Amino acid sequence: MDTKKKIAIIGAGPGGLAAAMLLAHDGYDVHVYEMKGQVGGRNGRLTLENNYHFDIGPTFFLYKPLLDEVFEKVGRKLEDKVQLIPLDPLYQLIFKRKKLYPSSDPSKMRDEIMRVFPGNEMGYDRYLKEEGRRFSAISKVLKLPFTHISDYLHPDVITGLPYLDPFKSLYQRLKRFFKDEELIYAMAFQAKYLGMSPWECPSAFSILSYMEHAYGLFHVQGGLNALATAMKEEAESFGATFHFNAHVSKVNVHNKKVTSIVVNDEEIVVDGAVLNGDFASSISELVSETHRPSWNDRKLSKKNYSCSTFMLYLGLDTQYDHLHHHNLIFAEDYRSNVLDMTQRMVLTPDASFYVHNPVKLDASVAPKGHSALYVLVPVPNTLADINWNELKEDYTQRVLQFLEERAGCTNIRNHIQALKVITPFDWRDDYGVYLGATFNMAHSFDQLLYFRAHNRFNDIRNLFLVGGGTHPGSGLPTIYQSAIISAQLLKEELK
Ligand SMILES: Cc1cc2nc3c(=O)[nH]c(=O)nc-3n(C[C@H](O)[C@H](O)[C@H](O)COP(=O)(O)OP(=O)(O)OC[C@H]3O[C@@H](n4cnc5c(N)ncnc54)[C@H](O)[C@@H]3O)c2cc1C
Repeated sequence: MDTKKKIAIIGAGPGGLAAAMLLAHDGYDVHVYEMKGQVGGRNGRLTLENNYHFDIGPTFFLYKPLLDEVFEKVGRKLEDKVQLIPLDPLYQLIFKRKKLYPSSDPSKMRDEIMRVFPGNEMGYDRYLKEEGRRFSAISKVLKLPFTHISDYLHPDVITGLPYLDPFKSLYQRLKRFFKDEELIYAMAFQAKYLGMSPWECPSAFSILSYMEHAYGLFHVQGGLNALATAMKEEAESFGATFHFNAHVSKVNVHNKKVTSIVVNDEEIVVDGAVLNGDFASSISELVSETHRPSWNDRKLSKKNYSCSTFMLYLGLDTQYDHLHHHNLIFAEDYRSNVLDMTQRMVLTPDASFYVHNPVKLDASVAPKGHSALYVLVPVPNTLADINWNELKEDYTQRVLQFLEERAGCTNIRNHIQALKVITPFDWRDDYGVYLGATFNMAHSFDQLLYFRAHNRFNDIRNLFLVGGGTHPGSGLPTIYQSAIISAQLLKEELK
């Protein structure tokens, strides 16, 4: 390139960081504007007093090959930047009367199914075989941009569409393989990564549990936020510039093209822009409605959004050895709990929740002998009639009680050295997440592929979207994929 084209990336979440790596490597003059003081967004690092460190959001690093692909595209290797620790078992699943320890080693997993759910082993063999075929067909579909309806005629889509099985839910799909309800839940809870119910989530997302079983899960030394730091450093090594505490308040558009952006009241002229902020809230805040007829405020408000999460980050002066790295504690009536969260929009007395206990594998997250527990309770988004300002204290106590009674964390209240709570209101107000819907626009079939916000924004030629709100969807692997697609589209547009 003769003169470097200037690209503004708005937000340094995983999508923005992957785009920064790819575009800086390809010779663009990349400037990343991040309103917070650090990289990562929801994938950032939280440090509390007395040296306790947490991931804010993602703790499940699944389908590593996609991040490998981002690194390979710029001639680098992920393992040279971060230390990856494979998980075996993948997680501890705690049901009312049973515990299951799934593994990505098929023979161990088979033995585990025989131990806890005898008679389902053959179903597991079929699941691996059939879902493997399905995954390879669907993953090709997810790599396409879907900027035109004619993309449905692409040969990979024609081959892949039957595998999408659009009229079945994830739960119905898994019922083909497994008899025991709880084993189905063990393969379906991953719908949580999309903030959806297994009974509503399209069957195509059975590939999520398949990815865990086929490709494993990893912890990253220091937390998954270390991925964000590594990506920032890689982008910088190719010349990208990061601007922190840099709030973008406007994207100026003329003749369907971004001409400039406004950052902390200063106008900056650009050749193109990549938007990584939460799609629904950023597009409505930054782009005047006249420039986005396809995604006006009314249309945004009519879409379905994921659930939210209530979070506790606990610095403790003890360690709970019985906890694994990932722990999921299921409500006795899991289905009713999921319905409460996604449809009835109320809190369940007997909620399901997740506990992350990284100190088992990673001593860097807490002082010696201490631990840093992260607790996530899926709850309705802010459309629910719940006043989190009033409920925050009570619900914190309720979750501590869950930890004591259902996760075996005896006397936890006496061990708390540091505590941070994030409610759905905080996701909305402090993290700019539309309706506090932490996993973005829901992944129902009518909001996927062509019907999700396009990677090249529908109404503006040189504005590209990356992150969980655009195609292919929320979750780290699909977010990295969105950056690969958008970087390619940008290169085609600005050549
Ligand atoms: C609690 C939780 C748990 C999750 N767990 C998992 C998991 O285990 N595995 C998984 O794969 N996924 C998980 N996810 C989903 C997803 O991977 C993460 O949310 C991910 O961080 C989303 O990435 P993103 O690229 O969309 O951007 P975000 O992380 O949302 O980052 C966007 C960035 O843009 C910045 N920004 C926004 N507006 C502006 C502006 N106007 N000017 C400047 N900067 C701006 C924000 O400050 C932020 O840094 C989880 C999410 C949450 C919230």
